[in-house]
Amino acid sequence: MSRILSKRANELKPSATLAISAKEKELKSQGLDVVGFGAGEPDFTTPSHIRDAAKKSLDRGETFYTPVGGIVDLKKAVVSRLAQDYGLEYKPSEIVISCGAKHSLYNIFQAVVDPDDEVIVFAPYWVSYPEMVALAGGAAVIVPSSEGNRFIPEISELEKRVTEKTKAILLNSPSNPTGVVYPLEVLENIASVADKHDLIVISDEIYDKLLYDGNTFVPFASLPGMKDRTIMVNGVSKTYAMTGLRIGYLASTNSALVKAATDIQSQSTSNPNNTAQAAAVEALNGPQDEVGRMREIFQHRRDLMLRGIDEIPGLSAVKPDGAFYVFVNTSRFYGEYGIENSTDFSKYLLERHYLACVPGGPFGSEDHIRLSFATSEETILKGLGRLRKACEELA
Ligand code: PMP
Ligand code: GLU
Repeated sequence: MSRILSKRANELKPSATLAISAKEKELKSQGLDVVGFGAGEPDFTTPSHIRDAAKKSLDRGETFYTPVGGIVDLKKAVVSRLAQDYGLEYKPSEIVISCGAKHSLYNIFQAVVDPDDEVIVFAPYWVSYPEMVALAGGAAVIVPSSEGNRFIPEISELEKRVTEKTKAILLNSPSNPTGVVYPLEVLENIASVADKHDLIVISDEIYDKLLYDGNTFVPFASLPGMKDRTIMVNGVSKTYAMTGLRIGYLASTNSALVKAATDIQSQSTSNPNNTAQAAAVEALNGPQDEVGRMREIFQHRRDLMLRGIDEIPGLSAVKPDGAFYVFVNTSRFYGEYGIENSTDFSKYLLERHYLACVPGGPFGSEDHIRLSFATSEETILKGLGRLRKACEELA
């Protein structure tokens, strides 16, 4: 057998974020004292009322297949959350439940992208976007941004990259990896470009509940005229500390898209996990106080992380308004000791100082590394100590 793999599989880059998390866990299991700033997942245990709902569902014997696109109760729970939180009106038939927001995005690209179609992606971007677009046969067209402008893209840079092949604009605000939230004016400008060129907007809003400093989130679909153009993506992973339960969803008023995403699911995963759907119903319908409590803790940790970075000569970072990442500029340390890029720098941190973080390269910037502050204050302080020592050794 000379050629097992498809061209697609051959060209696929595995997820750098998941690779770092796996490496971190492996080193810890060998008894090494590794500090983890890699994992993009809340370190909190899923709130107990949500876990109880999963247990009760199992005890009721709800272990069968469910409808492919999710149970009606969960679709209704999504609808009522969107109505309560944002005044957005969707019908349960406009929601598709999938095995995580990542899966929702995968289904969407499979449903809308033809070979050679282009999808506009703003840099820095989450590692999985270009790969998922490529898996659908399309090409991600990257819109750059500058750190001096807080990673907020210039609309002229977006306009320049729209061609007759452009099918969609992909948005992620608050952003992974920068934590930056696009100002309303920028969202409005993106909306007018989408309108002018008749483009779909795929809005990944997975960090909508993790906005700091009292700021409130604006869903893209709530902008005038944007609801029918927008495919909203969200899930319960980050908001309710349910990453391993794997429930995400899309919301769209386009019935053909909803049907296509469901049909793709019917020929791939079938329904998302039955027990996890019961847990997600409780997460969305039940008390929401834990969400605010976790957000407050994250904000505290963000401030701690930022102060620490600020005190290390040679490092700088844009203050994240949301999510739980800081994208730290480490380029000042390149060029010596065999460190040329973000991968070398991350490797140096892990191998010499037992500090795990994700290199910026797979997010579209070699000048940076991503630090996650979804970990305890004690771990943050310990990791910052190691980061300082690592930088001092290179200075
Ligand atoms: N989008 C972004 C920007 C993310 O950071 C993540 C993190 N996992 C996801 C989507 C997917 O989340 P999940 O599949 O756990 O719902
Ligand atoms: N989204 C998280 C991260 O960026 C979790 C891992 C993943 O799905 O990529 O670290």
